[in-house]
Amino acid sequence: MTQDEILDIFRRNHALLEGHFLLTSGLHSDRYIQCALVLQHPEVAEQLGRELAAKIGKTGATVVVAPALGGVLVAHEVARAQGVRALFTERQEGRMTLRRGFSLEPGEPAIVVEDVITTGGSTLETIRAVEEAGGKVVAAGSLVDRSGGSADLGIPRAALATLTVQNYDEQRCPFCRAGIPAVKPGSREK
Ligand SMILES: [Zn+2]
Repeated sequence: MTQDEILDIFRRNHALLEGHFLLTSGLHSDRYIQCALVLQHPEVAEQLGRELAAKIGKTGATVVVAPALGGVLVAHEVARAQGVRALFTERQEGRMTLRRGFSLEPGEPAIVVEDVITTGGSTLETIRAVEEAGGKVVAAGSLVDRSGGSADLGIPRAALATLTVQNYDEQRCPFCRAGIPAVKPGSREK
């Protein structure tokens, strides 16, 4: 699938909005991505997982790991496509950790995925959690890369769509200056 085909799926599901948004981080943005609206359709989730698994390619990984909550379904579908297991990390006292009895073999090769990569921060935290559990992360992936391709994890990384999303402080937001009201995504009725 091409990037345009991927983004069409997002637009059809109202998962990629263009306008003036107030993000939970407090920043203002020209685009908003909500992968859960795409992943609510199991057949679409499966298809995207298959596409991402193919794009990541053969790595020898025997497990896919994602940060909860956003990455859980992505890990599940990429793991399904690659015929391996899917685990997720959770925050415990602020620190990303494998819980629930999840474990890795010493040196077990792993792929880390998430729904949207922005700076790579949560993927890096998940990589650290995998390494602390004894695994070795060999590749990373996300459905969407909203860093414009600039997020660098030091390992091979794949994304189904790469976007450059502009973020602004309220004081510097051109939409605020133009008097366009900011929308808080998820809070508006559809
Ligand atoms: Zn603004």
